[in-house]
Amino acid sequence: MHGLSIQSVSRHFGEVRALDNVSLDVAAGEFVALVGPSGCGKSTLMRIVAGIETADDGRISINSRDITALRAAERNVAMVFQNYALYPHLTVRENIAVPLAMRRLSALERLPLLGRIKPGFSQKRAAIAEDVGKSAQALGLGALLDRKPGQLSGGQRQRVALARAIVRHPDAFLMDEPLSNLDAALRVQTRREIVDIHRRVGAATLYVTHDQSEALTMADRVAVMQAGQLLQVSSPEAIYHDPQDIRVATFIGSPRINVLAAEADAAGFIHIAGQPSGLQAAPGPVSLAIRPENLRLASSGIACRADGFEFLGESLLLHARHGATKEALIIRLAPEAPRPHAGELIHLSFEAKHVLVFDRHGKRVALRNHIAQHQEMTLA
Ligand code: ATP
Repeated sequence: MHGLSIQSVSRHFGEVRALDNVSLDVAAGEFVALVGPSGCGKSTLMRIVAGIETADDGRISINSRDITALRAAERNVAMVFQNYALYPHLTVRENIAVPLAMRRLSALERLPLLGRIKPGFSQKRAAIAEDVGKSAQALGLGALLDRKPGQLSGGQRQRVALARAIVRHPDAFLMDEPLSNLDAALRVQTRREIVDIHRRVGAATLYVTHDQSEALTMADRVAVMQAGQLLQVSSPEAIYHDPQDIRVATFIGSPRINVLAAEADAAGFIHIAGQPSGLQAAPGPVSLAIRPENLRLASSGIACRADGFEFLGESLLLHARHGATKEALIIRLAPEAPRPHAGELIHLSFEAKHVLVFDRHGKRVALRNHIAQHQEMTLA
């Protein structure tokens, strides 16, 4: 396979299963975002791919070459981390040149004075300077080449780190929260820059982030990880609209997806707090998940008490509690929607096609009945 292939990788730290049989392919030119709660194993996976941590089990290959046993320096994998790791005493130009100098110059040639007397030195230096220039150009750093990292903003430093990563034409790019030290506006701008660079460089990119909007907007596919396991790897649209596991459904989306406990009776009819819902699935306890933007205020439906509001500018979040079960619900309304009073009885409806049903193990199950996709479910 052309690209990065992670096959059945496991890693334990004592009792902690940091990675449990993780397999993930990132094709050449593909951008995969790895998301998951703190401590789920994202950094451990990145470190194993980079070669700075070893796996207990499994294989890593790049362009069909097994690199599991290779040292980090032999892997042609570039890494960018949140703390840039620039050398403070070197200029931008010298920082970007470091990986090339390490590869192309001998230890003697890297010495400030002695290196110059070696034959072929100036050609090698000129080639390095040309590559550094191209990489700096790609990131808009041309005017900053003689500055030291201390004279740069956070965003500029991150661009130097990116320039240093692309200068050696890596087969794979690993980025671990590269934007987390930047302020909100700069993050959004730098997102686009990273995606542009990725398109130009064309390497397989694995990108770790805490920020799901970053993952959904930047990636070709999103990989959701929890407790050392990969739960789902899909397009951003499928991760959001078609989660196969309730942990994926509740992790992705802000505000969080609403979850209602329900029960499918022996005939498969689903009841919410004893009320028939008109939906059908295999008998047994189920969870119904509905995104806040898919709930509507109606004259009948799920009976709730209004709790309060959050005005977000482009929408209004209504907080409510289920009348019987007291489960918390959030409804996204138009910003100008009439606001019920706190404590007021309201009813919520939804379209059948917007309900995701999960079994007692949290696995997605199909609705059994062939209800019309646009049928409004207002309960009996
Ligand atoms: P975060 O988003 O907070 O950076 P993460 O998803 O990157 O978290 P990891 O750093 O990969 O998570 O850690 C996964 C699990 O392995 C955690 O429970 C962590 O405490 C544990 N762990 C990681 N490195 C070590 C280590 N060197 N020794 C012991 N336990 C470790």
